[in-house]
Amino acid sequence: MSQTYTAPCPHFRQCGGCQLQNLPYPQQLRRKQKQAEELLGEFAQVLPILGMEEPSHYRNKVHAAFALDGRRQIVSGIYQPGSHAIVPVDNCYIEDETADAVIRDIRSMLRPFKIQVFDERSGTGWLRHVLIKRGFATGQLMVVLVAVNPIFKLQKPFLRELLARHPEITTVILNKNDRFGPVVLGTWEKVLYGEGYIEDILCGHRFRISSRSFYQINPVQTEKLYRCAVDFAALKGGETVLDAYCGIGTIGITASDSAKQIIGVELNQDAVKDAIANARLNGLRNCWFTAGDAGEYMEKMAADRMRPDVVFLDPPRAGSDERFLRSLIRCSPERVVYVSCNPETLARDLRVLTKGGYAVKAIQPVDMFPFTNHVECVVKLERNS
Ligand code: SAH
Repeated sequence: MSQTYTAPCPHFRQCGGCQLQNLPYPQQLRRKQKQAEELLGEFAQVLPILGMEEPSHYRNKVHAAFALDGRRQIVSGIYQPGSHAIVPVDNCYIEDETADAVIRDIRSMLRPFKIQVFDERSGTGWLRHVLIKRGFATGQLMVVLVAVNPIFKLQKPFLRELLARHPEITTVILNKNDRFGPVVLGTWEKVLYGEGYIEDILCGHRFRISSRSFYQINPVQTEKLYRCAVDFAALKGGETVLDAYCGIGTIGITASDSAKQIIGVELNQDAVKDAIANARLNGLRNCWFTAGDAGEYMEKMAADRMRPDVVFLDPPRAGSDERFLRSLIRCSPERVVYVSCNPETLARDLRVLTKGGYAVKAIQPVDMFPFTNHVECVVKLERNS
């Protein structure tokens, strides 16, 4: 079947963003299902993966790198994997189309407004990246201009023109990043227009999202992911729940209606500020958020003999760490719900938890990233009696 099938995106061969464009969507899902079964099948039966009905243009966060090509023309697009060569992309098959239109217009405005793009070889120029975040449910749109210094000469007329072309833009931020390396955003930023954050709605709650806070990039699938996670938590109303690696508090806040209290812990200070604001935004008085390392926090909970009834954990790709898992086992919550974007580190961590007295009760893969080879899973664990 795949011989007669053509990748829907013309950039597939050069751009490394998608790995599975050459497979029809149902086949992609079968492949991810198989991968989840191979890596996690030893723990429990893997439920059928939850796919998308419309698996295109799902990304609410779009990043474009800017540079000059060999003919000194301004190009914007996606870095080829493992290199700093940019594949010019105007219409990405998985990115939000409005975000792509904003990026194209910004690019066309650079010469008229005398904005130079940064050239890594000579170290001259100014603009490096444009990052767009969009709330699919609210329509709000954030533009982050990433530049090597904060001097934006024609700022006012540039913004006037950009906002006239795209009235859907609700906030514009200037971010300074003068470092080499793969990190897009620097730590200094200034709000040029609007509030400096956008809002979105997920599972009936409203969330504020700042430029540097993590927010799931596929909101349609995120609702399925969170509903599954909350369902696996089987809350009755009286529980104390820990939301570890909580980001802007989305999982905890989604679960807060069915629990006594939610405690969230997260390393990124901006995300914690958003989480605290989000509890207030939703009128919730039973959610608390702290900044810090999840492992350190869990260790402290164990030392203080605090015993959450249920723990959600949703760590980055590297998975959790020994400190966290060891202390989690010491706290011995009744149920643990592990949300993971990397089945390999998930399998490693499940081995620790199953040795430590937990049994895997269910594994649900969710396709958060169609056309790429990433597999997301939610796992329900219960303490052995
Ligand atoms: N649960 C959230 C965020 C998941 S992404 C959501 O669904 O949106 C993983 C989060 O872990 C990121 O916000 C990242 O900043 C945070 N993080 C990374 N290392 C951490 C650590 N050691 N301790 C606590 N949080 C950490």
